[in-house]
Amino acid sequence: MDDTEYHRLLGMGESAFETLEEHLERRNYEGRTYRHLSDARHGVERGTALIAGEVVRGFPKISRTLVLAEGIPTRFADRCDRIAVEEKLNGYNVRAARIDGDVLAFSRSGIVCPFTTRVLDRLVDLEALFEAYPRAMVCGEMIGPENPYTAHDYPDVDSLTFRAFDWRDRVSGDPLAVEQRRERYDRFEVPQTRLFGTYAVGDAADDVRSIVDDLDADGREGVVMKSPDGTEQLKYTTSASNRGDLAYAFSLPFDYGKPFMFRRLIREGFQTVEWDESDDVARDRAHELGEAILLSMRETIRTVADGDAVGERHTVRASPETVDVLLEHLRGQGLQIEIEADRREDGDRVCTFCKRTQSTNDRTENYLEGHIVRE
Ligand code: ATP
Ligand code: MG
Repeated sequence: MDDTEYHRLLGMGESAFETLEEHLERRNYEGRTYRHLSDARHGVERGTALIAGEVVRGFPKISRTLVLAEGIPTRFADRCDRIAVEEKLNGYNVRAARIDGDVLAFSRSGIVCPFTTRVLDRLVDLEALFEAYPRAMVCGEMIGPENPYTAHDYPDVDSLTFRAFDWRDRVSGDPLAVEQRRERYDRFEVPQTRLFGTYAVGDAADDVRSIVDDLDADGREGVVMKSPDGTEQLKYTTSASNRGDLAYAFSLPFDYGKPFMFRRLIREGFQTVEWDESDDVARDRAHELGEAILLSMRETIRTVADGDAVGERHTVRASPETVDVLLEHLRGQGLQIEIEADRREDGDRVCTFCKRTQSTNDRTENYLEGHIVRE
């Protein structure tokens, strides 16, 4: 199919599509060339992929509120009376779509992930769903350990697993209503994220606050609030999640962007004020925040001082072929991968590898050697 069709599928003019095209990156998946958009442009979502004459829309960016009581009505009051509150899971985003008969898993930025494509095929049977709804885009989070991208554990998840949280038309990007989506996933026996309930917009903040308290106590990430028709979303995260992210970022301080860290610190500031914490409670929060930052940094500096390297360590468990294509995929993206352990278990390959984080290793070493900084 030529580009004329793509602009129509995207609902844009030919000349606008031409400008968009300059930002598309070309890639290859198993002999099939495709293009994807790794940043939102011209009103087209980041992660949109053009493949085999088909469009797979990116998953929309979800805005955040720092203050529940004000943010919820600001976002929803003129659009709906009630909101659905679902758990926000901490893993990595995946969109599954059927292209030319194959179910492919797209990453947040629109890359076909060979690992997730294969693992998903093992985890959930999407055949009947795509038979009935060929234009479906199954959106969800891959959670749990044993994956090459994120590191957050859930008590009841031993290895990597999938939870659906959205269902969209892959061409238009339009979502199903929350209730309809949940019914359909139930019908096709696809596991889903938790729905806490639906609440009146006017007094949802209190309910969300108590849900967030429980999630926080369990070390879970937070909530995504949605208009019943699925078109509006708003996220809010727990202090445990902010701390977890900060601890991780400060364990690789020169590889994580400073804005990443700053944003999480600011969230803590607004949460302690909105929740009207006493001096004692705020001091406990400050203490935990400080520990998250300092202790992880200390460990990293000590590791480098001992002559060892730090990096992002992951273990994956999959068929030997899947692990092979994954390592090739990661190296193809310019990552430096070192294999640290590799064994077979029940026919699977269980491989631990480390993504080298060069800046943290180099700069930590320099500072330890007495490098003088002008600051
Ligand atoms: P981006 O918004 O670009 O994905 P981010 O890292 O800022 O990047 P998050 O802060 O993790 O994103 O929040 C948005 C992501 O949350 C979604 O992209 C999705 O992968 C994930 N998510 C987890 N649970 C849900 C849920 N129930 N509903 C919607 N999204 C969810
Ligand atoms: Mg996330």
